[in-house]
Amino acid sequence: MTCHDALNFLDDYLDGNLPWGQRLAFGLHLGLCRPCRDYLDGYRKTIEASRKALSEQAVVTCEQLPEEMVQAILAARSQTPHIE
Ligand SMILES: [Zn+2]
Repeated sequence: MTCHDALNFLDDYLDGNLPWGQRLAFGLHLGLCRPCRDYLDGYRKTIEASRKALSEQAVVTCEQLPEEMVQAILAARSQTPHIE
């Protein structure tokens, strides 16, 4: 397996969709190839960060936002002077 192959398998590997044979080859390649290990590390962190951001965003939905707050935001927006 080359680095190029490994990167192609990355998504399936993280999703657990990789057949065991390829999983094994992927793991083996990672064990031998530091750049790919570093890449996987960074990739994982990116995914975790974006998932975290998404779940934090999901906490505040439009339904949960108090009506007064929505009105206040809309009012503040319309009061923003135009910068010429
Ligand atoms: Zn590699």
